[in-house]
Amino acid sequence: MESMYLIKYGEISLKGENRKLFEKQLRKNILAKLKDIPARIDHKPGRVYLYTQKEYTRQVEHALSTVFGLVGFSKATPCQKNIDIIQEIAIQLAGNYRKNNPGRTFKIEARRTDKSFPLSSYEIACKTGAGICTAFPEFTVDVKNPDWTLSIEVREQVYMYGETFPGLRGLPAGCNGRSLLLLSGGIDSPVAGLLMAKRGLYVDAVYFHTPPYTSEKAKDKVKQLAEVLGTYIPSFKLYGVNFSEIQVCIAQHAPVKAITLFSRAHMMKIANLLAERIHATSLITGECLGQVASQTPESLRFTGSFSALPVFRPLIGMDKEEIILKARKFGTFDISTQPFDDCCTIFAPDHPLIKPKYDEIIDDFHSLQTNELIQKAVGDAELLIRS
Ligand code: ATP
Ligand code: MG
Repeated sequence: MESMYLIKYGEISLKGENRKLFEKQLRKNILAKLKDIPARIDHKPGRVYLYTQKEYTRQVEHALSTVFGLVGFSKATPCQKNIDIIQEIAIQLAGNYRKNNPGRTFKIEARRTDKSFPLSSYEIACKTGAGICTAFPEFTVDVKNPDWTLSIEVREQVYMYGETFPGLRGLPAGCNGRSLLLLSGGIDSPVAGLLMAKRGLYVDAVYFHTPPYTSEKAKDKVKQLAEVLGTYIPSFKLYGVNFSEIQVCIAQHAPVKAITLFSRAHMMKIANLLAERIHATSLITGECLGQVASQTPESLRFTGSFSALPVFRPLIGMDKEEIILKARKFGTFDISTQPFDDCCTIFAPDHPLIKPKYDEIIDDFHSLQTNELIQKAVGDAELLIRS
C-alpha cells in the first residue's frame, strides 16, 4: 500500500531568483537519504510530496527528520475534491487518533488554494468538524488549545493530515557550496559543522592527528563523530592529516607560551590548502569567544590571519550549556565526551599567551620554516571516511 508525506519548507520558499536552485537541492538531498528505499517525489509550489510504500514508514520518517531545509512533514491522506469524501476521511482519521490518544478536543485547519472549490475554508472546517462531532460526541472543538489538529488543504487535490513532525529547518545542505570543517574530537567542532550545514553548506572535515602522541582510539572517536555528521550531511567526507612532524617542530622551536597558538595557525594554513583541493570556499571551526587562551580576539586575529578563506565560527557567541544542548540533540555529545586526548592538550603549555601581539610573535612563527612540512602534510592527507 502506498504512503504519502507532505513536506513543508519555509525559508527556501522566500528566496526570489534562487528559489528553484534551493528546491532542486532539497529534492536531491531527500532522495539521497532515501537511496535504498523505493520512493518518488512530486514537487508543487511551496510543497514537496513524497510517495513510498507503507512498510518503509519508519525509515522514511527517520530520514526526513535528518534533512536540513524542512520545516516539518506529515503523513497525509490524499482524496478527491468532494466534501462528502473529505468528511468521511476526517471521521476515519479522528477515529484513528482517538484509538491511540487520550485527547478530548480538536480543531480543523482548512486551507483552500484552489478557489474554484465551492466551499470556503471556514465552511470546509465547519462541515467537517460537525461530522466528527456527530461521529464522536465526546470529542469536542477547541480552536484555541486543541489536543489534535486536522489540516485539510484543497490544492490540485485534497490533502488531509493530523500530526506534523518537526524538521531541522535551515537551508538544504549544498545550496551555498562546500566548506571544510576543522573537526577535533571535542564537543564544539561537530556542532559547528552541523550548524553551518544547516545554513546550506556541504561540509567535509579535516582531522589533525599526532601519532604516537595521540592514540588510534582518539582517531576512532573522530571517525565515529564523522559517521554521525554523515547522517545529516550528504556525501560527507573526513580527511586525516598527520600533524606529528609539525607539532614536534613547534614544540622544539617555538616559544613555549605560543605552542598552542602556532599549532592552530598551522592547522589554518593546511586547511586552506586542503580546501583548495576539494573545492571548498570557506572553513569552519568550533571556536567560541573567550573559551580558552587561543580563542581571545587577539588569538583569533593571529590564527585567522593564516586563512585566505572566510572562517565561519558559528559558536562564537554561545555558552557551553547551549553548545552541549545542541550536541545532545544532534547525537554527538556522548561520542565527544569519550576520554581520549587531543594533541592540543598533550602539547599545551601551562601558561599560554592570552593576548598575543601579532607583531611580536610573527617573526618567531616564520622562523619555524615549516613550509615543506606543511606541503608534505597536505600531500599525504588521507580520506578516512566517505558517507
Ligand atoms: P572542540 O571541542 O571542537 O575540540 P575546543 O573548545 O576544545 O573545541 P580547541 O581545542 O581550542 O577548542 O580547538 C578550537 C578549534 O580548532 C576546534 O573547535 C576545531 O575546529 C579546531 N581543532 C582543534 N584541534 C583540532 C584537531 N586535532 N583537528 C582538527 N581541528 C582541530
Ligand atoms: Mg578541542
